[in-house]
Amino acid sequence: MPSKIKPVKKKTAVKRAEWTQPLGHDAWMEGLWSAARSDHLPHALLVQGAAGIGKFTAMKWFAAGLLCDNGPGAPCMSCGACRRLRANTHPDLLLVDARAAGMDALTVAFFAERKGAPSGGFQGVSVGEFLSLRSAEGGYRVVLVREAERMNLNAQNAFLKTLEEPAPGTVLIMETSMPARLLETIQSRVIVVRAAAPDAQVARAILEQQGVETEELDRLVRMAQGSPGRAMELERNSIPAMRDLLIEWASGQRGAIATRMAVMELKGKFTGKTPAAEARDRARCFLDLGLELWRDTGRLGAGLHPDQLAHGDCLNPLLAYSDTDRSQALQIWMQVRQDVGLNIGAETLLDRALLGSSPAPQSKKR
Ligand SMILES: [Zn+2]
Repeated sequence: MPSKIKPVKKKTAVKRAEWTQPLGHDAWMEGLWSAARSDHLPHALLVQGAAGIGKFTAMKWFAAGLLCDNGPGAPCMSCGACRRLRANTHPDLLLVDARAAGMDALTVAFFAERKGAPSGGFQGVSVGEFLSLRSAEGGYRVVLVREAERMNLNAQNAFLKTLEEPAPGTVLIMETSMPARLLETIQSRVIVVRAAAPDAQVARAILEQQGVETEELDRLVRMAQGSPGRAMELERNSIPAMRDLLIEWASGQRGAIATRMAVMELKGKFTGKTPAAEARDRARCFLDLGLELWRDTGRLGAGLHPDQLAHGDCLNPLLAYSDTDRSQALQIWMQVRQDVGLNIGAETLLDRALLGSSPAPQSKKR
């Protein structure tokens, strides 16, 4: 019997499932799907809540529930519409996402119809072009705007026109952690959906779902104040390890130079087009972390309970500083943090902060 030829398995990196059921957002989604079932879905929604709590994932899931052949309701993820969503080929969904386009701002090119006009920057399908087409599948046409605060003024004005004259069957959903950056005329034309930060248990589950592997999930969730997105960022930038080093330095167990060297050697993903820029981003992360810790000591002094603070569990070495030394240290770190924008080496920046605010002598007695 001839042996069967085994198909060659492609080695594919395990990619996080992009269309996953978001945890902690059930209440508002259920309410709105139910409104859609009775044909009362508002045509424009603004999902508002802290950064990193999964608003974008939730918004996509909600849209999937509108487009699903078995909807409106929680999407089945197996019907034809859901399969097209998963393959990112559904013709009735448009994602407006500056980050995915490799841009910082959502410019007018993302929104306006470009009738042959030359356009720099974003070249994809704009909201105007998308909405000028009829629904391909006979249901809703859904536009999702990620991080709506990235819209510049021209973009907001262009989008406002769409909000003012919605085409039938169109649903416009924005997501933001900074609603104050949106024009009042936009805010007054949308229904605000408040998305709350998930509790610590849900945050843990989300991180596990996203494949964050660490034995320190609890510590990470606390440092991120319950925001899973923030927790992932902390993990990417090795912030927990940086904090260990900072605490060792502040308690006098590790010298300034040794601390700087250890910080520079930590694994982590830092952004920058050159190694020097990447190193500066690393220094920035460390300085931002230090500033958070110095500020947490101030919050503690102002009467907040340690449990309410991201770093409330490790502030003792910093509290050993006298008040004067502590405020001086904060000043130095703030100055150095400002200088990250200058063309100064990361090592120099870190040395200035660490050497300039050496640990209080009494902390060594602890
Ligand atoms: Zn479906």
